[in-house]
Amino acid sequence: MTLRFGVPNKGRLNEKTIELLVKAGIELGDDIGRKLYIKASNQDVEIMFVRAQDIPEFIERGAIDVGITGLDQVAESGYDLVDVMDLQFGFCRLSVAVPEGSPIRDVKDIKDGSRIATSFPKITKKYFDSLGKNVSVIVVSGAAEIMPYLGVSDYIVDLVSTGSTLKMNRLVEIGTIVESQAAIISSKASLEANKAEIDEIASSIYSVLRAENKKYLMANVPKSVLDRVEEIVPGLEGPTVIPLAGNSGFAAVHAVIDAAEVYRVISELKKIGAKGILTMPIERQVD
Ligand code: AMP
Repeated sequence: MTLRFGVPNKGRLNEKTIELLVKAGIELGDDIGRKLYIKASNQDVEIMFVRAQDIPEFIERGAIDVGITGLDQVAESGYDLVDVMDLQFGFCRLSVAVPEGSPIRDVKDIKDGSRIATSFPKITKKYFDSLGKNVSVIVVSGAAEIMPYLGVSDYIVDLVSTGSTLKMNRLVEIGTIVESQAAIISSKASLEANKAEIDEIASSIYSVLRAENKKYLMANVPKSVLDRVEEIVPGLEGPTVIPLAGNSGFAAVHAVIDAAEVYRVISELKKIGAKGILTMPIERQVD
């Protein structure tokens, strides 16, 4: 049976999600951005482009089998869905913020009856209920930051990543309700019915995520200093050393290294006389 996979059709998670799926080997052709759904040409997967915030609802109802959305959306839906895998992008947090001039600097000091504008009414209500506070939640569909300025609310609950939007709107973050990032989401029922297919896509995506922070390194190293290479280049299982035809003084060293280590490794290899140093991107890392 075709696996129905929900992908954000626009917004912050859209581009990176499509990039991940394509890198994971799901061929989507040239119609991305024009079609509402695309059948992958090489796998039994149909990609449905829907709003990130609708994905939990569609999974709960069985309209789609699996999807990628923010964990904040899953929390707001209130459904007991399964986080199959965190995807290490779309990091943000749902926070309580107050106007700069407000004397309130701790959520505990927010008074009963305060008006809080948010597009996350369910989690907001649950959060303040858990603090024993009876606040008035004002539902907006966006631009919550402007609501205190308009006099619509006293405080806001909104998504923050760098904090620069809050700052621009002269708001101060005083508490975090939930931390979020993009994730592969499914339901218990769908996982039971589609476990093999979902596992396969998740492990392809995992191999892409792992490879994103890695580089493949090659260098020709004087044989006399090969023993130094292992400390400079901590590969996955130690570097691979290959003899070089016709050049008895050097051996080729190949290794997978963290992208963050490239600068250090190259400069240390140069110091011990390495030549022909190359680094290359890795598409996937599969164990
Ligand atoms: P969209 O409203 O379609 O742009 O998607 C919003 C989703 O992107 C949210 O539900 C979050 O999971 C994620 N996201 C990541 N960083 C932020 C941010 N700074 N502001 C809003 N949403 C963010």
